[in-house]
Amino acid sequence: MSERETWDVAVVGGGVIGLACAFELARRRRRVVVIERHQPGSHASRIAAGLLSTIGLPLGEDDDLFPLKLDSLRRYPQFIAKVESIGRQSSGFRTDGTLWVARTAEDDQQLDQLNEKRTSLRLLSRRVTAREVASFEPQLAPGAVSGLLIEEDVQVDPRRLLSTLEQGCQAVRAKIATSQEVTGGEYEESAQAWNLSLRATASNERLDDLLAKDVVITAGPWCDEIIDSASESAAPLSPTGVGPVKGQLLRMRGPALIERVIQTTNIALAQRRDGELIIASTKEPEAGWDLTPTDDARESLLQRGTEILPALSGLDLEEHSVGLRPSTDDHLPVIGPAGREGLWIATGHYRHGVLLAGSTAHWLAEAMESGGVPEILKPYGIERLGQSQKSLEAAR
Ligand SMILES: Cc1cc2nc3c(=O)[nH]c(=O)nc-3n(C[C@H](O)[C@H](O)[C@H](O)COP(=O)(O)OP(=O)(O)OC[C@H]3O[C@@H](n4cnc5c(N)ncnc54)[C@H](O)[C@@H]3O)c2cc1C
Repeated sequence: MSERETWDVAVVGGGVIGLACAFELARRRRRVVVIERHQPGSHASRIAAGLLSTIGLPLGEDDDLFPLKLDSLRRYPQFIAKVESIGRQSSGFRTDGTLWVARTAEDDQQLDQLNEKRTSLRLLSRRVTAREVASFEPQLAPGAVSGLLIEEDVQVDPRRLLSTLEQGCQAVRAKIATSQEVTGGEYEESAQAWNLSLRATASNERLDDLLAKDVVITAGPWCDEIIDSASESAAPLSPTGVGPVKGQLLRMRGPALIERVIQTTNIALAQRRDGELIIASTKEPEAGWDLTPTDDARESLLQRGTEILPALSGLDLEEHSVGLRPSTDDHLPVIGPAGREGLWIATGHYRHGVLLAGSTAHWLAEAMESGGVPEILKPYGIERLGQSQKSLEAAR
């Protein structure tokens, strides 16, 4: 048998969460390997729109996530500065804010409520008139009733961020092993480490196992496959129940049309400095693992987009993208210890993985260093999803 390579940390899954965790842990001088089934950012992370905000419409949707979202948004400039200075690339970070646009009396009321909620949480935002909406963003369709300007919202280009994180990982000597998947794991008491079995996804060849003192599972909606494969019958691990929520989004390209992120109650638009314009997005929980782009979704996104930004009809459609948002039953992430010595998890970031990447990496690294769960992560522990654990125990 060949000698197994030994690492401080193996991160399983090279999406935005896995790369951010690997970067942070390697920066803290741990020897880190990322194992990625395909290429880094092959799934939801490269599809995401990259809109980063704490609270929007509909109200009440993510209330339980607010503390972590706020922490993430406040931490973002620092996170980007760190990644860009080490990764030596730009991530397309823009700080021009979000302009919510009301086009009906009902929208107008909803913006009032959003503004009130933000004020009650001490978040800044400003109601603006129809005339101001037109002067801020002259390309928008006439007919706005009012707007809400949120200057603290930011945006990033997830594809650039992924590439910068990859460069950053290399610069801090984290290895990224691509086209390899983890097919099983077992804790070896004698080595005080996890033995991970690997397979090459291109050739199906079984690769040498590797040893890691800590394993961080960041495999998006596929996390339970790894948890299952690492479960011994004597001590089953608790699955998270994380699964996919399909989302479709359009990428257009053309001359600069908008500065800020534009939000209405039914569509979001954002334009990168290089001309890429995003029309986001659908949410299709009933679609399961399906990755097919549909004509209906394309037509509906284009129609809703041109309603608010008519000049969109003159832009080229560059890509119709589909991604699977990793979601738990309560739509909250799972971040922290995974119920066994040296096993950690970070998944279920659902609609906010790009926003939450920096704070997930920071707080998970803090937990791994201190051995305790930081206060901010306590609502997102795996124990809350304990129903599955109970049924596993009952089945034994
Ligand atoms: C249409 C759409 C729009 C979105 N817009 C936004 C937005 O504006 N803002 C925001 O913050 N978020 C947004 N999101 C959500 C965001 O994309 C996700 O929350 C985030 O990408 C999840 O990242 P992840 O790293 O957990 O998962 P993933 O990106 O799914 O990465 C998981 C990785 O694990 C790998 N893997 C799986 N199994 C194994 C295995 N056994 N061995 C090795 N590797 C494995 C996969 O190949 C994959 O690369 C959007 C998502 C979609 C679909």
